[in-house]
Amino acid sequence: MKNIKPIHEIAGTLNSVLQIDLSSKTFTKVQISEKLRKLYLGGKGIGLKLLYDRLKPGIDPLDKDNIIIIMTGVMAGTGGPCSGRFHTVFKSPLTGIIGSSSCGGSFGRQLKSSGWDGIILKGKFDTPVSIQIQNDTIEFLDASDLWGKDIPDAQVQIGTKNKDALVIGPAGENLVRFSNVASGYRYLGRCGLGAVMGSKNLKAIVAVKGKYSIVPVHKNQFRKHNKRANQYIIRNKISRMNRQFGTAANAKPIIKNNMLPVNNFTYGNHPKANDITGEVIKENHNTSYHTCKPCSILCGHKGKFDGKITNVPEYETLALLGANIGIFDPNKISRFNEICNKKGMDTISAGGTLAWVMEATQKGLVKTNLKFGSSKQIEKALETIANLEGFGKQMAKGSRELSNEFGGKEFAIQVKGLEMAGYDPRGAYGQGLAYAVANRGACHLSSFMIGFENLLGILNPHTIRSKPEFVKFLENMNAAVNSMDICLFTEYGITLETVLIKLTPHFVLSTLMQNVPSIAIALVDFSLYPKLFSAASGINLSSKDFLKAGERIHILERLMNVNEGIRKEDDTLPQRLLSEPQKDDSKKRKVPLEQMLKKYYKLRGYDKEGIPHQKILKKLGI
Ligand code: SF4
Repeated sequence: MKNIKPIHEIAGTLNSVLQIDLSSKTFTKVQISEKLRKLYLGGKGIGLKLLYDRLKPGIDPLDKDNIIIIMTGVMAGTGGPCSGRFHTVFKSPLTGIIGSSSCGGSFGRQLKSSGWDGIILKGKFDTPVSIQIQNDTIEFLDASDLWGKDIPDAQVQIGTKNKDALVIGPAGENLVRFSNVASGYRYLGRCGLGAVMGSKNLKAIVAVKGKYSIVPVHKNQFRKHNKRANQYIIRNKISRMNRQFGTAANAKPIIKNNMLPVNNFTYGNHPKANDITGEVIKENHNTSYHTCKPCSILCGHKGKFDGKITNVPEYETLALLGANIGIFDPNKISRFNEICNKKGMDTISAGGTLAWVMEATQKGLVKTNLKFGSSKQIEKALETIANLEGFGKQMAKGSRELSNEFGGKEFAIQVKGLEMAGYDPRGAYGQGLAYAVANRGACHLSSFMIGFENLLGILNPHTIRSKPEFVKFLENMNAAVNSMDICLFTEYGITLETVLIKLTPHFVLSTLMQNVPSIAIALVDFSLYPKLFSAASGINLSSKDFLKAGERIHILERLMNVNEGIRKEDDTLPQRLLSEPQKDDSKKRKVPLEQMLKKYYKLRGYDKEGIPHQKILKKLGI
């Protein structure tokens, strides 16, 4: 591989995807049409469409027939706002349905500098291999000396100069169902992509800087929209909180509203909960930035834990691999986080699974030495999961499979097999609906209702009013933003700092949102996204096209899941959240899911079983 200075410019995108057959070690080019680009945008959207056209429903996710698609968006390499991201789609070994995960880091940018918008991986290597990509040179390198290595050691051996690599750890090699993939110090965390790479004997994919630099098609317009977007982002209150305290900024409002998952979602708060807020961590751990690039929010931070500089655990890690297993010491949570990052495991699913095991142990369903609040055995337990030792072999399957095998389904806090993120929906009913219907399982990012119901306090969290409308709107919007591979966190700045919203008094906005959601939704000006898309790609996209593309992407993913057998009975929440109040909630709240679900299906154009009607598929051109 040569060290090459960029010698060619790509205006927007070349619309080229590299398709690799691992079994035969051959590759071809797949051309994306302009029409497809307009309908599915890029990133997650085009990734899903490519997967839909190739993946047979019903296959075993760990079979060679599973397909991994890695896609960038039109913004990759342009310097657009918070655009250092890329997306992956595949069939998940944790959920058995479509898995997706997005990530920051320079991998997407490096790949695009070789003229590739994405990669399709099918088949399986016979022995451990790493793929190295630079321009049209695709090398298949023996990775037997990397196999078995922890992620940081493998990364050192691969090197980082002018390249970025997607790397799995021992957990991925051992097919742990919630194993992740590292890209530098950022992670493709959810849904077990690490195990799919492991099942293909694929240790790493290395993108070496190529011969292209990326420029927007309409440079002046792009500059103007980019400047405006960054101004909005920088002055937005939630962006500023994230910049100061990282995603741990969420902890304080979540604790205040009794929504912190404590001891497997039994309580919503704890006397030591404030020890894991962003404010306390910043003060005690000397934090500084460690972010995706480019980014004007800067939520990624590093800090000093146990005398060592390392990533500050994200809010989700503090909640799931901390409070939810009864641990409130950031030094200890940081150690658990490090083990997951070294071995290659998602901290949300690891925490959710350990919490189930602790409660099942208390109830005598399984015999382990794991106890809420006792940190002693946790490091060892995480290692046993990654290495499939002893009971770790069972834990590596996640909480749904454990509860199928040993009982205790009512307290397995997962949806469709994916462990729940760190917001107890008994404190925000819209988030309850969001978890129940999110395509990949109990995902907080599909429509992050917490933003409206909690962080901004603009929708009453304890009613069902307007929740189906806003879940649908945010799902469409997030699918579209994810498909541009702009960070979802930009939405606060880009939509809430616009003149109309700024001039509308809070109580008026809140009343509209509560009572006439269609008008409130119409007031949201997200036009900077399609403007950036159009300027970068040269493809004219209106705000209406943008939101419709988001809807198309969401419904396509739903259809793929329906083809895998997903029905209404799967759009639900764990029994604990539907029928059991938190022990420290005097109001005894439970999530009233059924009424919201009925309305949501109607708005979405699903039948009673949750299957999209032909009419909606036709309208969206699916
Ligand atoms: S806001 Fe955070 S997650 Fe988003 S691009 Fe920036 S550093 Fe990455």
